[in-house]
Amino acid sequence: MDNDALVKAKLILGGDVILPEGFDDERLDHIDGRPVSGVFTFGNTMVRKRISGTGEFQLNVTDDGMEILHEGKPFLKGVRIKQMFCHSPDIAVISLGKKGRTMDTTEAVDLLKKYANEMDLTGISLHGGADCTEEHYIEVLKEFRTICPDTHIGVARTTEGYDLERLKNAGADNFKTTCTSFVPRICDVLGIDHQEKLESLKQAVRVFGKGNVVTTTYIGLGETDEEIENVIEMLCSNGIMPDVKVVKAKVMIKEMESKMGKLIPTTPERYARIATILKNKMKSYGLKPDTYTTMCYGCRLCTLVPFKDF
Ligand code: SF4
Repeated sequence: MDNDALVKAKLILGGDVILPEGFDDERLDHIDGRPVSGVFTFGNTMVRKRISGTGEFQLNVTDDGMEILHEGKPFLKGVRIKQMFCHSPDIAVISLGKKGRTMDTTEAVDLLKKYANEMDLTGISLHGGADCTEEHYIEVLKEFRTICPDTHIGVARTTEGYDLERLKNAGADNFKTTCTSFVPRICDVLGIDHQEKLESLKQAVRVFGKGNVVTTTYIGLGETDEEIENVIEMLCSNGIMPDVKVVKAKVMIKEMESKMGKLIPTTPERYARIATILKNKMKSYGLKPDTYTTMCYGCRLCTLVPFKDF
């Protein structure tokens, strides 16, 4: 198991961070003048953590810089705080679906220009929304391509049926979709047609190329290590890079448990072990996310990305 992967897995799955008494930093997110979350970077990676008074991690400021303690014991040195601009410190994440309405093109363009001015952009993620038509999505995508000709743009297929060739021709570089699980036994319970998802992902690889297609999928749903390894093998052998996340959202867990019974939480050790398997599989199929600089592989605040994080 990779140690950097384990450290990040512990932070992703662990509790909040407690700040030193009286400490504040303008780069942290504030609500009503109180720091509530922050992005902490270390080595080649970073993670977003909630800040509260009762966390299992503590930020410690020493003469040599910042460190994070875990339950009072040394855990991570060389920690820095990074400025958040929107959803992510490095990539502009723009969702056209906003509070029951769809953002128009001018609004989306103004938002991207604002981010491009404020941030050192390494990628743009464009999300549609339930009511966003393909025409509107493409129009916004073309505008984004014109404003930022050299920045990778990632598209997420939130509406089935978007024409992948059109997305590519309009300027998209990276493609992402989500499939809660590809484990056949779990898909049967949840009513997921994972074969259909797989076919659309294979088509995405034909259009966007190897290394430019990611699918988010979850662990912690009662799958065995062997089942998830088979899924990773199946996806990687088809040129698809899995973004493996641990199911954490309480609503999602409640829904799953109503169908599948009590779920056993995934430990950081298991997450890091599976991420290490993922990295090895990606390596054996010649998959590297060098040109995938958008979506979760570009952001990396709450997921383990092989070759970038560890
Ligand atoms: S890794 Fe993905 S889900 Fe997590 S904050 Fe970044 S873009 Fe959002």
